Amino acid sequence: MEIKGQTMTELPPLTLYLAAPRGFCAGVDRAIKIVELALEKWGAPVYVRHEIVHNKYVVDGLRAKGAVFVEELDDCPLDRPVIFSAHGVPKSVPAAAQAREMLYVDATCPLVSKVHIEAERHHANGLQMVMIGHEGHPETIGTMGQLPDGEVLLVETPEDVAKLDVRDPEKLAFITQTTLSVDDTAGIVAALKARFPAIIGPHKEDICYATTNRQEAVKAIAPKIDALLVIGAPNSSNSQRLVEVGRAKGCAYSQLVQRATEIDWRALAGITSVGITAGASAPEELVNEVIDAFRARYAVTVELVETAKERVEFKVPRVLRETA
Ligand code: SF4
Repeated sequence: MEIKGQTMTELPPLTLYLAAPRGFCAGVDRAIKIVELALEKWGAPVYVRHEIVHNKYVVDGLRAKGAVFVEELDDCPLDRPVIFSAHGVPKSVPAAAQAREMLYVDATCPLVSKVHIEAERHHANGLQMVMIGHEGHPETIGTMGQLPDGEVLLVETPEDVAKLDVRDPEKLAFITQTTLSVDDTAGIVAALKARFPAIIGPHKEDICYATTNRQEAVKAIAPKIDALLVIGAPNSSNSQRLVEVGRAKGCAYSQLVQRATEIDWRALAGITSVGITAGASAPEELVNEVIDAFRARYAVTVELVETAKERVEFKVPRVLRETA
């Protein structure tokens, strides 16, 4: 554009639809606080078994403050505190820590602990459990590890339900991972109920409020947008589900990006609208970084699409509250 002899490059217009709620949930917030307070109380290093939450930016930040991330209890010295991640751990892990007289703090999200308690209650009533979840995910490993081997059978798809070999079809209950796709899970629950009419389940699946709300917000923006960017880590289950929900609701270009440097600008050529959300373990700094990257290339208008308000907060364990 030519203005009185001055040349200005006009940026193409773009609308960014910002999903709300997005990003940190109460369980992630609490888990990060637990590590920070533990560092304050006991000094560095504090050991953390598994990534405290599935986000490299968060983990790197805590590492810089003195947290040491390990995969197994065996990798922790006996004389330093160890924290268990928000995803939960099999019962054998705190049992081993106790046997070694280690100081440990459990950062398992209270909503995951609720599922553990549910599984134990059904087990005490003589029921075998079916868990809907993703094989190998730490939350699934932790929840299945609340009961003896063989007491929790894992299904990932409706097809898996057809293959289940149960002890007694009249004595079954189901539980779910907290970060599943609401819609896909409904299909698996329907298959379970069709094959095992006596199966008992939670009133609402165990999918947590944060997972549900973030998926609802994506459903609201998906019809309006040319592309969806989900800020999150590849090993973050709830972030991956947001990508799938975007695609299922008609936004063919739905991509996970860890941060702005991963945006494929060529793939976005010619678009006029983009949806942005963030998984439950992705901090708002990364959302702002992505918005700034768009502002550098487009004349951006931001529209907030809010489908729910969240006011959930979880307290940190008493041992750390005394420090705070
Ligand atoms: S996603 Fe849900 S279950 Fe997982 S940590 Fe957050 S609130 Fe807890």
